[in-house]
Amino acid sequence: MADVPFTCRCGGVKGTLHNVGWGNHARCFCQSCRAADIHTGDPDPGDGGITVFQTTPDKITFETGQNKLVCFSFGPKNLLRWQAECCGALLFNTLRTPHVPFAALRTSRIPEPDRLGPVRSRGFIPDKNGRHRHEGMRHLVLGMIGRSLFARLTGRWKQTPFFDLGTSRPVAEVRVLPEGARHDILK
Ligand SMILES: [Zn+2]
Ligand SMILES: [Zn+2]
Repeated sequence: MADVPFTCRCGGVKGTLHNVGWGNHARCFCQSCRAADIHTGDPDPGDGGITVFQTTPDKITFETGQNKLVCFSFGPKNLLRWQAECCGALLFNTLRTPHVPFAALRTSRIPEPDRLGPVRSRGFIPDKNGRHRHEGMRHLVLGMIGRSLFARLTGRWKQTPFFDLGTSRPVAEVRVLPEGARHDILK
């Protein structure tokens, strides 16, 4: 299965996403993803959503700059959003624990995103009533559970660039942005 390179904006962090047939290409319309793009210096994606490639952390390796990963979250319980310290580029989302092996790579960091294949899931699509709906979630959820479970059963979950398994803590200190930061960014 194909391996696809990724890079931050300046080239200080470079690596490879392995085995793209294993993952899921998804578009997320949620306000947190939008705010994360703006906060890290990407253009405002507006209502169009952002795309990520969801996989397990063992499918991510670094050629250079792994020690430049820094992370933040909107509030104390939300996803960890990982940036390159060199240029601020947003690279990954993970959960807050290594025990559920999940990582999503922001596809704007992939020079050849066509190699990921089409988007198969869409999350948090706003509707007219101010609610949200999702499409392709069966694919997303079953894929995520299947991949996590496989990584757990095989021990591959221990191959993660994001956590220190001795302590189960992230390798970088989490900068927790105050509640309301997201709102301030989007207004
Ligand atoms: Zn989102
Ligand atoms: Zn950089």
